[in-house]
Amino acid sequence: MSEMNSRERRRRKKKQRKIAITVMGILIVLLAAAAFYVTLQAKKNQGGDESSVSREASSESLASSSSGSNQTSSQSPVSSAGSSGSSAASAGSATGSAASPAASSVSDSAVSGTSVQTETVSLTEDEKYTGDLILINADQAYDFERNASSIDLKNIRESQSFSYPVGKEEFQVAGRVLSSLDAMIAACDQAMGTSYTGISSAYRTKEYQQQVWDDAVKTYGESYAEKYVAVPGFSEHHTGLAVDLGIFYDDGSEGSFSESDNAVWMKDNSWHYGFIRRYAEDKQAITKISNEAWHFRYVGVPHAAYMYANNLCLEEYLDYLKNNTSQDAPLSVTCDTGTFSIFYTADKTIRKPEGVYELSGDNSSGYIVTIAV
Ligand SMILES: [Zn+2]
Repeated sequence: MSEMNSRERRRRKKKQRKIAITVMGILIVLLAAAAFYVTLQAKKNQGGDESSVSREASSESLASSSSGSNQTSSQSPVSSAGSSGSSAASAGSATGSAASPAASSVSDSAVSGTSVQTETVSLTEDEKYTGDLILINADQAYDFERNASSIDLKNIRESQSFSYPVGKEEFQVAGRVLSSLDAMIAACDQAMGTSYTGISSAYRTKEYQQQVWDDAVKTYGESYAEKYVAVPGFSEHHTGLAVDLGIFYDDGSEGSFSESDNAVWMKDNSWHYGFIRRYAEDKQAITKISNEAWHFRYVGVPHAAYMYANNLCLEEYLDYLKNNTSQDAPLSVTCDTGTFSIFYTADKTIRKPEGVYELSGDNSSGYIVTIAV
């Protein structure tokens, strides 16, 4: 009898355990469903996140994206460069694509469906003429006054992180590019097994550029000066973001940078450090400056990476951003330093970007916003 009872008890206990496990299972499923619903609502409330997900999904090589997306300008330099330059795009790690209009409209409706207060950022007139992407060429002068407070010039020889040759004691660059310049020169010398890559020209005042111009005219004639020397006030060297590289031997003599293997290395690798070879042979019609193997200009890593991968000079790149991007349809670029959303705007008020962002003017009509995503 007692045995029967204990068996019965065990059966009952077993049954109770089964019920308890089933109830717990149902509770877990319910909890998971609730958590999923809350996450979904939270995502909906931050409409921007959704669009960045779809942007990343559409982030692939330019050659394939230019045929698939509804970009308005079929004449853009990038779509033509994309089809012929796909090998460059795959050689470099930088790829990118403008988000399709469909992706941005999804995020718009998600935002307007809720009553989220949109924070905005006001852009100033001064910011249009300052920053890493300002275009200085024969048509666009450098604004000395507006850049005076931000240029933060540093003496290269006094501030360099290791001792590489600097042509003149007084050479300076904008403080914010110095560490990138140091790293680029170190990497070049290391790759080439040399120790003679150095700086043959850096920041120039308007007066100094006048002297460079006058010397070039006196020595080589006016037609040479027009080809290689910028008119005072219209030189990238005024920005502190540009340097001319040189070869400096231990005995004090100088070599030809253009003819050195270091020039080839720089052409193909400067973008890792945010620099572009500004005046290429095949862009002379646009830049109005002849081929210069030695002149490098800082623009920032994601921009340099995209320009290199798609064979765009600064004029073409800024045109591309202006004609093909907006805050709702940014260009997505993935490079050594991360993934970035980049767009052009002429508006003085933008929605506050989510995450860390940088602002630069184009030195004429608007702004380029670069957001780390
Ligand atoms: Zn130069």
